[in-house]
Amino acid sequence: VTETLTVAQTSDEAGDAVERFDAIVIGAGVSGLYQVYCLREAGLSVRCFDEAGGIGGVWYWNRYPGCAFDGPSELYGYTFSKELQQEWDWKDYYSRQPDTEEYVNFVADKFDLRRHVQLNTRVTAATWHEEGHYWEVELESGERARASFLVGALGAVALAFTPPYPGAESFKGQQFHTGRWPREDPDFTGKRVAVIGTGSTGMQVIPEVAKLCGHLTVFQRTPGYGIPADNAPVDPEVQREWKESLYEAIRKEWREASPDPETGNDPRSGHDARPQMRDHRDGHDVPKEERLVLYEEAWQRRGTAKFVTLFSNLISDRELNAEYAEFVRGKIRGRVDDPALAEKLMPTIPFGAKRVPLEEGYYEAFNRDNVTLVDVRETPVERVTETGIVTSEGEHEVDIIIYATGYDTVTGGYMDIPFRGVDGLTLKEKWQEQPFSTFLGLTSASFPNFFICSPVAVCIHTPCVEWICEWAAELIVYMRERGLTRMEPTQEAEDAWGRHHDDVATRVNSGEGDEYSIFLGKNIPGKKTRRYSYAQTGPVWRARAYAVAEKGYEGFVFDADPSAPLGSSKPIPILSETATDSG
Ligand code: NAP
Repeated sequence: VTETLTVAQTSDEAGDAVERFDAIVIGAGVSGLYQVYCLREAGLSVRCFDEAGGIGGVWYWNRYPGCAFDGPSELYGYTFSKELQQEWDWKDYYSRQPDTEEYVNFVADKFDLRRHVQLNTRVTAATWHEEGHYWEVELESGERARASFLVGALGAVALAFTPPYPGAESFKGQQFHTGRWPREDPDFTGKRVAVIGTGSTGMQVIPEVAKLCGHLTVFQRTPGYGIPADNAPVDPEVQREWKESLYEAIRKEWREASPDPETGNDPRSGHDARPQMRDHRDGHDVPKEERLVLYEEAWQRRGTAKFVTLFSNLISDRELNAEYAEFVRGKIRGRVDDPALAEKLMPTIPFGAKRVPLEEGYYEAFNRDNVTLVDVRETPVERVTETGIVTSEGEHEVDIIIYATGYDTVTGGYMDIPFRGVDGLTLKEKWQEQPFSTFLGLTSASFPNFFICSPVAVCIHTPCVEWICEWAAELIVYMRERGLTRMEPTQEAEDAWGRHHDDVATRVNSGEGDEYSIFLGKNIPGKKTRRYSYAQTGPVWRARAYAVAEKGYEGFVFDADPSAPLGSSKPIPILSETATDSG
């Protein structure tokens, strides 16, 4: 690796020294680190700030017991380096948080990324300067830094949501959100604990805390479809097969998927990226008795394979969805001893209306003597007191409250930091009017030289994140090669993307039938309703984004300020294509 961390000093109007970089990346999670890697490989000086005490993003913060992937490990890792894929052994089929955090740290060390990352550093604001074409970032310490390009790699779950219960601040016990789990594990022994929320996180944490605590009270609003993860250590034979053939097959599959960018139709660009695992038939072409047999057979498969291997219209077709939902409800009934309790846990929203949680012993936890369920639709939470949680039927005294209540997803983190673009307009002001208005999910008019490098496609597997980061880095290289110092998408391009974004959202089951849909932002009081992620697969996003690049970045306007430092760059080896290992 060539040393490219050449930090320049510049001085502000008052003559104070300010560090100057070619690019600043906010967030040292899975996308931020890869963005740093791409930009450094392109020859840029880059600094990454993260408020956490360690790298890893969500895998640093979410250290609650039971935290694990909800997608298969072999599909999660970075794909840009074959060497990395060969060196890393996944311990479990659905990697658990400690191993995933170790993985991200392993990657940072292998590719020497750590020296670009400044931890324990919260970015409090960022302002675009038209004269000289640069961003100035303010840090909590009062220090500032400048860069020609700014990348927000805040992640889709950067801003935790805690219901604003009256009296919460008066609670005398310990209370925290799962996404800010204490560094030192709380001692649950003999304690009365409340968990609020039964989404993906709640279903993972509840069975583990139930084993550790004196009594657990679970506050449920919308029951979900918990699917058994069947998590287990990876069989060495399977690990060998992943390294010998699967990684290469996936790489090829993802790269060669050539979906129609309009319709997204490509039998190869499925959620799982393993076409051989899918049943490409329309479920209606199969007689009902046979469908039920197939559901049962698929149920024997591990974790997500229980449903992703079934018909491609299983979720989108209302009739098939209802049939499969009833099948899963039958499985849940069989796991809960008390039939009345089982009915309270029974999901009624369409299957897949929320992201499907993978669990290990969630339903069995309710068979324990020390676990109680409170249905907050029947008995709503009224307030929190010094000693517990008051619902319409009385107080539940507890020592610890765990909020597994989710996030202001996708846009929350970006609206929490004042990003001030052209004429001081903040992203918050813009998105309050036009929620998540972007071009390609990655750039936004009035915010020049700014990238939103968070997962944008419905498919959030790491390869999609890699493409987003590569695409952004390639655009910067394109500009530098041409002496350009400013880029901004046009409003027309952004509006056209917005129409496409909304159009594809109507074609999928975008949280339909879910009163508090996370996909549509309905889980956050006051958040405008819109599909908050791109309802297409990664390959479709990629096809559209590269069509823009091939037409000379159609939809962007460029400019050059002679006073702006141009800096050099070098073409990036097409990272994932050649899978270079430069560490
Ligand atoms: P979530 O899916 O939004 O679930 C939040 C839960 O809190 C829901 O059950 C919600 O009920 C409940 N809730 C919210 N406000 C409430 C209130 N005022 N009163 C009572 N209940 C309330 O959040 P999450 O489980 O943290 O998951 C967030 C994202 O992270 C998801 O996309 C998930 O897939 C992902 N995740 C991934 C992994 C992984 O391993 N890769 C692991 C965990 C999570 P309602 O349903 O009624 O809104």
